[in-house]
Amino acid sequence: MASLLATGPQAFAGAVELAVSSRSLLLGRSTHAQIIKSLYPPPVPSFLSNHLINMYAKLDLPSPAFLLLSLDPSPSVVSFTALISGAAQNNRPLLALNLFPLLLRSSLRPNDFTLPSLLKAAASLRCPSTALQLHAFSLKSGLISDAFVISAAVNMYHKTGLLSHARHLFDEMPRKTIVAWNAVMTNAVLDGFPEAAVSAFIRLRSAAENPNEVSFCAFLNACASLEYFWLGSQLHSFIIRFGFDTNVSVGNALVDFYGKCACVAEARQVFDSLSTKNDVSWCSIIVVHAQNAEEEEAFHLYLATRAKGFIPTDFMLSSILTTCSGLSGLNLGLSLHAVAVRSCIDGNIFVGSALVDMYGKCGSIEEAEQVFDGMSERNLVTWNAMLSGYAAQGNASVALRVFDEMRRGGGVEPNYVTLVSLMSACARGGRLKEGMELFEKMEERYGIKPRNELYACVVDLLGRAGMEEKAYEIIRKMPMKPSVSVWGALLNACRIHGKEKLGRIAAEELFELDPHDSGNHVLLSNIFASAGRWEESISVRKEMKDVGIKKEPGCSWITWKNEIHVFQAKDTRHERNAEIQCCWRILLLADLRRRMAAAGYTPDTRFALYELEDEEKESEVYQHSEKLALAFGLLCIPQGMAIRINKNLRVCGDCHEAIKFVSGIVGREIIVRDNVRFHRFRDCRCSCGDYW
Ligand code: ZN
Ligand code: ZN
Repeated sequence: MASLLATGPQAFAGAVELAVSSRSLLLGRSTHAQIIKSLYPPPVPSFLSNHLINMYAKLDLPSPAFLLLSLDPSPSVVSFTALISGAAQNNRPLLALNLFPLLLRSSLRPNDFTLPSLLKAAASLRCPSTALQLHAFSLKSGLISDAFVISAAVNMYHKTGLLSHARHLFDEMPRKTIVAWNAVMTNAVLDGFPEAAVSAFIRLRSAAENPNEVSFCAFLNACASLEYFWLGSQLHSFIIRFGFDTNVSVGNALVDFYGKCACVAEARQVFDSLSTKNDVSWCSIIVVHAQNAEEEEAFHLYLATRAKGFIPTDFMLSSILTTCSGLSGLNLGLSLHAVAVRSCIDGNIFVGSALVDMYGKCGSIEEAEQVFDGMSERNLVTWNAMLSGYAAQGNASVALRVFDEMRRGGGVEPNYVTLVSLMSACARGGRLKEGMELFEKMEERYGIKPRNELYACVVDLLGRAGMEEKAYEIIRKMPMKPSVSVWGALLNACRIHGKEKLGRIAAEELFELDPHDSGNHVLLSNIFASAGRWEESISVRKEMKDVGIKKEPGCSWITWKNEIHVFQAKDTRHERNAEIQCCWRILLLADLRRRMAAAGYTPDTRFALYELEDEEKESEVYQHSEKLALAFGLLCIPQGMAIRINKNLRVCGDCHEAIKFVSGIVGREIIVRDNVRFHRFRDCRCSCGDYW
């Protein structure tokens, strides 16, 4: 500071500028203190005061900035402009606009720096009348001829939704600047008119204007949302010719574009070739992998960003959270939640919604509720995440209540995803009346037409209630071709209620739609088996073998201490196999069987067919993969923690019964996620109500 004193006010100005560029409030404030101390008596010279006002305004401290302005006996348009532009940049549009009349009352005229900031403020306020007034002012003052002013006005009209005004203004521009072109293109993409952005780019080129990075990004975003692969990749060559391929923003847009077009390898190539990568680059590539079913690579890259010391952003965390699903994703999800809390972004609406979604998908409905309840702001995505969590649990009554709350209290209108969740909750919870009412009234009430997913839910709903014929009638009246999930729902209903004839029809349709899926053959064969029609059952199996369809081997897995333990039926390969066998044979077989028998359980060997094709013996039912996984869980996971098991196929009936009893006998919560839904076992009962 001694040297500053020696060199005088210029050095102070330099220090204040440094505070702005390094965004150091500490430096700014201490310099201000030094100025007051050393330049006694007040007031601070006008030019230094301007620097200080600018510093406080840019660092988002409007009050001291305003105080300095009011202390200035003859404030200049420069100080006002500094305050206005600071407010506009820091998302305080009302403050910026309120300063404008003050400026006019001080007998000052705004200049070509003041107006763009005011127009920017009006744009973020999205108030059409203010927009029109400011445009009129720019016309009267003659400032509209300034390139920055007119470009800002075009942008403002786009943002306030006055699109025809924006177009007129743009067309009237005598010399269209690249800033104005970019405003047109960027806003077209944001407003959901990507085609308009593409055509603007072509007009820009025919006007012999040179695009810059913003134009390239807008064009790539447009191609990404239209999935115009060829157009985007042509632009890629153009970008290379123009020498913009090393630009990090353009590179990020390319990564995003290739990712949206499902070209992961191309996206990765662009990412790897970027010499400077910022957090957006990392985030983009993580999203590309996450959205193209490469969750492991996405997580790998996420860990790399952590190792490089990047602070996770809300966007990065919410995208990586979408990769955590199933029970094995829970540990990952929990650690991400902790990271979100530490980075103070757990309150962000995107992160919050992603957390609700993750907990719902992992079957931790209480945690999902906790995050949901703690959110200060909720959007449709948040509500949908919560509803789909309840749907996966089959908790129809809560789902219906939350849906009601969403419409009444939240004022949020449902979309197709909402209704699918709600319908599947009704189906799984066996709420026939509410479900059918929803289905019949959805077009009239919400203007939403059912598609395949919804039809599948209705068929499921009716099928569970034993109304397979009615379900079949609805399928036949469908305006589109029924999908695998629709016929699958019917086949499953036929399995539950032993409707062989209709089951065969559904199965034939499925064999045609999805000839290589073994599950449908197994289901049909089981329908015949449970009806005691062994010949037909065996013939379906034979058919399956003749066409060369291999049954997907049933396996269950359980995560313990960051390791995934996989079990197959009759599996003896696990390192703790002896103990697992012991667990079932001695502990459970001997003890539990006695207790089970007392509680009314006898093994149901009919279900053995689901997993085993060999001759069935009672003891082999005890070797099903989910039972082995459960035994391992009982051995390892301490009392008080829920045991979470995943299964790739539908959980079999015998295992379902057995796990129900075990949950009561050992007094633990056991959650099984099969390929259809969650089963939450507690006190000898399952959340599915034996209806799955
Ligand atoms: Zn089983
Ligand atoms: Zn169940």
